[in-house]
Amino acid sequence: MAQIDDLPPLRDVIRRHGLDARKSLGQNFLLDLNLTARIARASGRLEGITVIEVGPGPGGLTRGLLAEGVAKVIAIEKDRRCRPALEEIAAAYPGRLEIIEDDALTVDATHLTDGPARIVANLPYNVATPLLSGWLEGPWPPFWDSLTLMFQKEVAERIVAHAGDKAYGRLAVLVGWRTHAEIVLELPPQAFTPYPKVSSAVVQLLPRAESLACDMKTLERVTAAAFGQRRKMLRAALKSLGGETSALIEKAGLKPTARAEEIPVEGFVALANAFDVAKAATSNAS
Ligand code: SAM
Repeated sequence: MAQIDDLPPLRDVIRRHGLDARKSLGQNFLLDLNLTARIARASGRLEGITVIEVGPGPGGLTRGLLAEGVAKVIAIEKDRRCRPALEEIAAAYPGRLEIIEDDALTVDATHLTDGPARIVANLPYNVATPLLSGWLEGPWPPFWDSLTLMFQKEVAERIVAHAGDKAYGRLAVLVGWRTHAEIVLELPPQAFTPYPKVSSAVVQLLPRAESLACDMKTLERVTAAAFGQRRKMLRAALKSLGGETSALIEKAGLKPTARAEEIPVEGFVALANAFDVAKAATSNAS
């Protein structure tokens, strides 16, 4: 295997800095630098790009990104034990690695870069999903030009699913509302140290060129109602929203007999907008 840089192997780095993996931080490290370079390449063209990396850990993916030619990595890591290992990488790539020791859930990433940023992360699912929601909800067009994120394979399949797919549900609608998402790489449990129980997949999300305007909270509300009873027809499943369900479905241009799993993202957006119009009309009348 070709060596991607002159820094020590990650196993040595982890041993030297006592970075035993902590379950509470979802630490399953990637130690194969050829693989991390491949993940970096899967995120697209890298020259001149600034990457915000969330959860660099001992720096496997960070090194992959830097070796593949990104202009700069801004790395946000919560575990302060990782800083000395990351500082060694920063010294090997002068001016190209900035380390932010913080919880990514509390960092406002919108102003970390001057131009568009690419976000790359191998994070625990419980952190990646709220971060993903925040990145989708923010002002549009977003401050990022792509997201390249590692998920459990089953979650990745739910993210990229389309109407009619078995995995299609609330997450796919939310993601499809703002992005085009695809799985770009699959990884077996053995790719990580320690091994997780399940396979993983890298998902790439690109912002939709044409925006589908609607309120995200309303979109979440109508999809929760529709998929809460996914086998039921829409007219029954949406009863929990209250009000004139049939009129709402008609306004959205959908069939009352359709089931949530058959309705494309655009249909849910139309439903969310019809719901907001009906709500505004009710509050104006009262
Ligand atoms: N990127 C490294 C790799 O691929 O080997 C580490 C991946 S490990 C799955 C997840 C990393 O995210 C850990 O280093 C962990 O400490 C970090 N992490 C977990 N929660 C975090 C949070 N809320 N903010 C920032 N980093 C976090």
